[in-house]
Amino acid sequence: MNISLFRLPADGLTFNHQYATNELDASEHQFELESPPLVTGRVDRVGMDMRVRGEIKSKLIATCDRCLNEVVLPIEASFDLIYLPEDPSAGHSGETELHERDLALAVYENDQINLDDLVLEQLELNLPIRVLCREDCQGLCSECGADLNSEQCQCQKPIDPRWQALADLKTQSEQED
Ligand SMILES: [Zn+2]
Ligand SMILES: [Zn+2]
Repeated sequence: MNISLFRLPADGLTFNHQYATNELDASEHQFELESPPLVTGRVDRVGMDMRVRGEIKSKLIATCDRCLNEVVLPIEASFDLIYLPEDPSAGHSGETELHERDLALAVYENDQINLDDLVLEQLELNLPIRVLCREDCQGLCSECGADLNSEQCQCQKPIDPRWQALADLKTQSEQED
């Protein structure tokens, strides 16, 4: 979906779009859409620049970093972006006011803002740095690949190097005594 900037009202424009299933193509992203996003927000003109802010609600499916199982992630993200005209010769009259605020920048073309790109990008940005199915996910056995959350394999557990270091310390102090 595109937001048309043609004849944008002087007091800005609000938008509210519930995406339909399959309306967005997330295939180039690290997630799938469990429930299609709802996006609400407003566009305000500042000279040739457009300030676009709002909120996105969605549920994503991502992969647990440890066990590779699917995880459903509810996302509620707010955004506040400045869209500059693609043609730099159009000039940026809002430059001094807006650019000083350190807002994220994007580009619009043909008097339109591509809302799909905005939504997909913002969802990607709001993914947690580590995706875990649960805090104490046991992950996969590095030897046989068994999911250690649901089964115990027969592979020998290597000694955690931290415990080994402690054991070494203990032996050392015993020797000193
Ligand atoms: Zn997991
Ligand atoms: Zn194993």
